[in-house]
Amino acid sequence: MRITNRTPADEIYQKASRLYRLRILTILMLIPLYMLTSRWAGFDIENLWPLYLVILIELFVNRPYKAFFSHSKTGFEALVASVIIDFLAETTALHLLGNVDLFIYTSCLFISIVYCALNLPTILTFQMATLASALYAGLIVLGHFGIIPQTVSFGPGLSMVQEAAIVARHIAFFYLIAIFTRSLASALVKKDERLEEALWELRETSNQIKYSYHMQTDYFARMSHEIRAPLNSILGFSQLLLENTFEPLTKKQNDFLSRIEKSGKHLRDLINDVLDLSKIEAKKMKLAPREVDMVKVLDTVLDVFYEEAIQKRLLLEFTEKPESLKIMADELKIRQILYNLLSNAMKFTQQGFIHIELVKQPAGGAKVIVEDSGPGIPLENQSVIFRPYEQTGRATAKESKGTGLGLAISRQFVEMHGGRIWVESEPDKGSKFIFTLPPVPVPPPLKLEKSPLTPGGNSTA
Ligand code: ADP
Repeated sequence: MRITNRTPADEIYQKASRLYRLRILTILMLIPLYMLTSRWAGFDIENLWPLYLVILIELFVNRPYKAFFSHSKTGFEALVASVIIDFLAETTALHLLGNVDLFIYTSCLFISIVYCALNLPTILTFQMATLASALYAGLIVLGHFGIIPQTVSFGPGLSMVQEAAIVARHIAFFYLIAIFTRSLASALVKKDERLEEALWELRETSNQIKYSYHMQTDYFARMSHEIRAPLNSILGFSQLLLENTFEPLTKKQNDFLSRIEKSGKHLRDLINDVLDLSKIEAKKMKLAPREVDMVKVLDTVLDVFYEEAIQKRLLLEFTEKPESLKIMADELKIRQILYNLLSNAMKFTQQGFIHIELVKQPAGGAKVIVEDSGPGIPLENQSVIFRPYEQTGRATAKESKGTGLGLAISRQFVEMHGGRIWVESEPDKGSKFIFTLPPVPVPPPLKLEKSPLTPGGNSTA
């Protein structure tokens, strides 16, 4: 972006500081090079003070003093002045050193013009070419009349008209450089501006997406809350009716009521998941750690699934567990993680086994492995399934039950404890869901920009 007198003062200051550093670096490189090559070629360096003068000007006069950059206008003027002072200082030093050839002079001009063309308004490029031409012609005229030492020579025996023609040619050359660099810089700046516009749009869109996502989860949370109350009474009354021994129901009524109850429970689970997710999203979910015996927790969660495993003829068993493994954790959340992993294993495995392993970590934490002989998960889906609402590779209607929230919530709960969760799987070779928990919860570092729950966030796997 080009700097104008309306650009924020801070931005101008940064540009000026960058230019200052660049100038100092150039001096540090060029002056030793000049002295070395002069000595090497056997040139007499009569006086070095013009070089020292340039160094002093650049170091102290042309420094971006913060006081000049408190307002856009003064900052802009200070930046333009520094470019002009730089050019004047270089030109003066060259003439004081003597033996100026057009190539060196033009190089100084070229550097200043490129900087103007890229960073400053259009007119300054041509003003710079005019300044360079005036300075060049002025020094030649003054030298010609003996007012200052003649530092530029065009060769012996040239008439005044011929010298004037050469000067005119050189001046035309300065303007040509200005036009050429200007059009090149314009193309570059335009590209830069287009890129910046695209970036701005991208940022806007991303903010809008974040806002809509937030609105959506917020809306879900409120709606879920509203739905829960009537749902609880549906569930409560259907249970009452089912358990009513005084007025027994017919077989058909019993069947219908069982279905109402089952669907109601499914809906309640779904709503609880959405509520959990929006609480995590709003950072309202807190841990309530206390001492938990992982062996006992696993035993009780496994009890819930034994009957279903028998019905499906699946072998559900512990393959390894210590006597007891106590850690500090939020028991309800650990139960929910285990429940999610086991119900997935149960849902997706049609034959074979579900093995559970509980291992004590060297530092005292716990590692839980839930392995099944189900369909497995292809590598490309393994990172996706930990994101909310992601359900990959569904083949049958039976499998399509679920919200796609279980793993996302489990991942959040594990990470809230400072642990890690991941999957190891291959298609047709079953899946292994593994998570670790430290002995005491370690809050994860704050993620500033990206919410882990926004679709597209990183996965743990
Ligand atoms: P869902 O409610 O769909 O089960 P989850 O977040 O629990 O949501 O799981 C996300 C997806 O991960 C599932 O839809 C499924 O594609 C895959 N998945 C999870 N667990 C297993 C498993 N044990 N075997 C095969 N695929 C699984």
